[in-house]
Amino acid sequence: MMRKPFIAANWKMNKLVEESVEYGETLVEKLKAEKVDLKKVDVAVCVPFIHMAALKVIFVLRNINVGAQNMHYEESGAYTGEISPAMLKDMGIECVIIGHSERRMYFGETDEACARKVSAAHASGIRPILCVGESLAQREAEAHFSTVKTQLTGCFAGVGREEAAKTVIAYEPVWAIGTGMVATPQSAQDAAKAIRDDLSATFGSHVGEAVRILYGGSVSSKNAVELIGEPDVDGFLIGGAALHVDELTRICQLTIEATL
Ligand code: PEP
Repeated sequence: MMRKPFIAANWKMNKLVEESVEYGETLVEKLKAEKVDLKKVDVAVCVPFIHMAALKVIFVLRNINVGAQNMHYEESGAYTGEISPAMLKDMGIECVIIGHSERRMYFGETDEACARKVSAAHASGIRPILCVGESLAQREAEAHFSTVKTQLTGCFAGVGREEAAKTVIAYEPVWAIGTGMVATPQSAQDAAKAIRDDLSATFGSHVGEAVRILYGGSVSSKNAVELIGEPDVDGFLIGGAALHVDELTRICQLTIEATL
């Protein structure tokens, strides 16, 4: 099955208002100048909440999606400081990162909370990008497959077939995030294949084959071609490199060329 490549930029907690506007405008220009065909790749820029409104305006009619990096699972209520799926939908936000390792590590996000968020995102028509991945200690103990399997089972609790098929999974080994230690193409492929097999076993092969699985962890224009060449890697979740328009544009170009 041909799965359309998906490239998501994760700004994390970076950029001030002026910088975000400059990035958005430059990205539009650069993608056009480099003739990046946005019909051949889905691109989402996942930004802090304060930047969403401006980027939605800059990207209007441009086929560049704006995504969130987190959300609450309730629609509204007494949750001071939180943003709901209804609020994101109301702003035209297309996707949301759920269960990023930084949220699991620093904010105590559990698989149970992720499961509620995945279901809530689907209920609001927002595509979840669910992050899974092992720590260095788990990798060294050869517990990476079992760790990812446990995360998948927990985060998909209560999720139906149709929703599962629309979920994007980002395999992000924690030791590779922001470290420059990118996974080898083979180990990214092995993990992506294990995830696909697991989803096929749970939801049926139709779902397993439809789900897009991204690799994340120190992706750059230097390693993207080898990684995207793997059959079960359908795109990238990119942090540091995607803070730079040139790099994001180049990775989009390389991805299209490699998946033609
Ligand atoms: C991320 O933020 O999800 C990520 C993969 O970061 P980096 O590309 O910087 O490793």
